[in-house]
Amino acid sequence: MGKPISSPFPPERHDHHACIATALAQARAVCAEQGGRLTPQRRQILELVWQEHKPVGAYTLLERLHEQGLKAAPPTVYRALEFLLEQGLIHRIESLNAYTGCTAPGTPHHGQFLVCSRCQQVVEVDDQGINRQLVQSARRIGFEIERQTVEISGLCPGCRSAGHE
Ligand SMILES: [Zn+2]
Ligand SMILES: [Zn+2]
Ligand SMILES: [Zn+2]
Repeated sequence: MGKPISSPFPPERHDHHACIATALAQARAVCAEQGGRLTPQRRQILELVWQEHKPVGAYTLLERLHEQGLKAAPPTVYRALEFLLEQGLIHRIESLNAYTGCTAPGTPHHGQFLVCSRCQQVVEVDDQGINRQLVQSARRIGFEIERQTVEISGLCPGCRSAGHE
């Protein structure tokens, strides 16, 4: 039995600088532990991924870099994203072909992602019950899971209440 989750969706107004600061501090710790090199450029791309609680595509990242006056070629951005994925600092949201910052890097988990179809906000939950169920169902039919990403689309609390106004 997992703990009941009080809404993991951040309120519309919150101290997002604190979110970014926490993410960067966690990234430094995770890289130090795993021996990954968090170069200034990789760090900057991670910060840009964390600019919002919405997944961001590689092209938008390139645009954001250019806005900051930095000329980065697409392969540079892809390599940085690959590094961040390897270190478990970001996740790829397949259905949106975009990336989102991990809220619990450094702890092994299979994320399930709740994706708001209206505002595209993404929240990661790690429900052990779902994981177990998936592994069992797969095993029953002789399938071995290598990688699992569960993406669930729907409406976040903010968009739901906006819809009722
Ligand atoms: Zn935030
Ligand atoms: Zn995660
Ligand atoms: Zn929403």
